[in-house]
Amino acid sequence: MATRKALFLDRDGIINVNHGYVGDYENFDYIDGIFALIDTFVKAGYQVVIVTNQSGIARGYYTQENFHALMERVQRDFSAAGLPTIPVYYCPHHPQGKLVEYKKACRCRKPQPGMLLRAQHELGIDLSRSVLVGDSWSDIEAALAAELAHSFYVCEKYMPENAPEGKVTRVNHVADVCAQAQQLGLI
Ligand SMILES: [Mg+2]
Ligand SMILES: [Zn+2]
Repeated sequence: MATRKALFLDRDGIINVNHGYVGDYENFDYIDGIFALIDTFVKAGYQVVIVTNQSGIARGYYTQENFHALMERVQRDFSAAGLPTIPVYYCPHHPQGKLVEYKKACRCRKPQPGMLLRAQHELGIDLSRSVLVGDSWSDIEAALAAELAHSFYVCEKYMPENAPEGKVTRVNHVADVCAQAQQLGLI
């Protein structure tokens, strides 16, 4: 019986500044408020999970080994800040990838909900009580496809007109998510 609720976090643009295909720690700049956001949701009983498209692997910009090494380094920063180990789901594919082994239209690349569904099965997550934070509309589409309780769209512009009412909240910055989540009674 799935009873754990999750906070799904996109990586680039939510945890770190999206400089474009970030493959090493030197270019990994944390976004203001991300540690506090994780800490707040952990204390509210959420299992935090990273779900990230990494087509830089399919494009040959960096390898899966580079990616794992980077995320291990990031986990050390989380641990040093007193945060728990955070599982990472990533999609290395892209339909126009350069490397044949990753060149495909997969079910894990957001907006597909594949990574969320995998976390549901492997970690025993109750998707209907879970939340996502992303800065691309494709993140939100994955959340909607997986029928999460709510998602936060970090974007300084506007919501697409087809956004379903009451399921998505737009915020300007990652640091604004907690206040909105509190208002919604999610934390
Ligand atoms: Mg992003
Ligand atoms: Zn994939």
